[in-house]
Amino acid sequence: MTPFLYSRASSAGEALQLVGQPGHRFLGGGTNLVDLMRKGVEHPAGLVDVTRLPAAIRETDAGGLIIDAAVRNSALAAHPLVRARYPMLSRALLAGASAQIRNMATVAGNIMQRTRCAYFNDAAGSRCNKRLPGSGCDAAGGFSRYQAVIGTSPACDATHPSDMCVALAALDAQVHVSGRQGARIVPLVDFHRLPGERPDLETMLEAGEIITAVEIPPSPLAARSTYRKVRDRASYAFALVSVAAGLSMRDGAIDDVRLALGGIAPKPWRAFRAEAMLRGGPATQEAFAAAMEAELADAAPAPGNAFKIEQAKRTTAAVLAGLAGDAR
Ligand SMILES: Cc1cc2nc3c(=O)[nH]c(=O)nc-3n(C[C@H](O)[C@H](O)[C@H](O)COP(=O)(O)OP(=O)(O)OC[C@H]3O[C@@H](n4cnc5c(N)ncnc54)[C@H](O)[C@@H]3O)c2cc1C
Ligand code: SF4
Repeated sequence: MTPFLYSRASSAGEALQLVGQPGHRFLGGGTNLVDLMRKGVEHPAGLVDVTRLPAAIRETDAGGLIIDAAVRNSALAAHPLVRARYPMLSRALLAGASAQIRNMATVAGNIMQRTRCAYFNDAAGSRCNKRLPGSGCDAAGGFSRYQAVIGTSPACDATHPSDMCVALAALDAQVHVSGRQGARIVPLVDFHRLPGERPDLETMLEAGEIITAVEIPPSPLAARSTYRKVRDRASYAFALVSVAAGLSMRDGAIDDVRLALGGIAPKPWRAFRAEAMLRGGPATQEAFAAAMEAELADAAPAPGNAFKIEQAKRTTAAVLAGLAGDAR
């Protein structure tokens, strides 16, 4: 590992000042960044520890939640208001990593974590457009089981690995960021970028900006929501496919629905097309299948990950059927 400087910030203003030094990066729990430094993928000149910044979860006047960026994943999953009002978020968090890692990992670090693409993580031996723009992509024609099937580009087909962000996408979460120019709010669904020709540009965060909090609006539907993750091992594994969903029924039809998928795309994939088809219609297997057919119509899988399309359709149908049954 290359030597680096370490400093600790006690306020967002101080963190912004410290990270303004050349090559400096924020440090949350370090569960992703420090791993990548050990592997030679990341080489920051200095780390600005932001784990001593506020770490509270507050109710908004409207009945939503504001979650400070330094809140640990385990604390968020266990919070009574999260469990009662947004069970999909609690379940998504508990489906990720291990208890020890969740105790360290922060909300902001989870949002900013980088892909688990094996070629990206192999700095010594593989070409990667995300690590070095224009250098090529050894995942192309390579082992594709864990790669994305939709939203990809010829330059990159890596997935975004977060479980938490899939639930946040379904919940219409807003990311609060702050920089020298002031504060702004970015919808989580717009926060992560698709790779296009620049897979190295992963989020809408500008250089020198910090994530300060995540806001989740109130949502009656979210109280009966869930998260299901399909993976190769029962724990300690990233999603092949995951589904975050909430659904309400009225007069025998779907009144409202929120749906997002993980493991299939370079960003948490909000299924807007499927949602629009489902609203107002029957909660039947045929309707779920048609909605997911439309949602994944643009998918372009490799031979090794084509199974994800059927898996995404079936997992979503099973989750929605369960929620519709509970809501009747
Ligand atoms: C073995 C293992 C298994 C895992 N399995 C899963 C899984 O199944 N599902 C899943 O979702 N995740 C999984 N993870 C990933 C884990 O969730 C992330 O490593 C963790 O969420 C990152 O949070 P952190 O606070 O440790 O971030 P760090 O490693 O400290 O930082 C990550 C990035 O966030 C940036 N950052 C940190 N704070 C801020 C801020 N306030 N503003 C702007 N940028 C910031 C850092 O600069 C860095 O670029 C796993 C990790 C490991 C090691
Ligand atoms: S898929 Fe993306 S992250 Fe993986 S090697 Fe190719 S460019 Fe890099």
